[in-house]
Amino acid sequence: MGAASRRFANAALVLESELDPPALLAALKRTEREFGRRRGQRWGDRVLDLDIVLWSGGAWRTKALTIPHKAFAQRRFVLDPACIIAPDWRTPLHGLTLAHTQARLTRPRPLPS
Ligand code: AMP
Repeated sequence: MGAASRRFANAALVLESELDPPALLAALKRTEREFGRRRGQRWGDRVLDLDIVLWSGGAWRTKALTIPHKAFAQRRFVLDPACIIAPDWRTPLHGLTLAHTQARLTRPRPLPS
């Protein structure tokens, strides 16, 4: 997406954690920083980008963190891997499952007559 010049591998996982969303975000950012530290390489395209897409506690909205992730429903590179592991997970926004959200994004719609 955007200005990235490289190809990326995308993956999704279900993580069970005692951390609340802000603490989990802080842990993800630490992990990103650890992966980003490569000697002799300047910052360019990110080596690793970790996002929280959904949370079993429902929605979360602060300045620093929005769950569900703002753009997940428009991104196949998020929905495709997420649907493999959690197709029946219902999003708190509109109550659709991930499989249904993916279908809405990928199914060709009839042109209006
Ligand atoms: P990114 O562009 O993915 O590196 O994210 C940049 C910033 O987006 C993070 O530092 C977070 O503060 C913010 N953010 C908001 N919502 C989320 C989310 N659901 N998952 C990850 N980051 C988020």
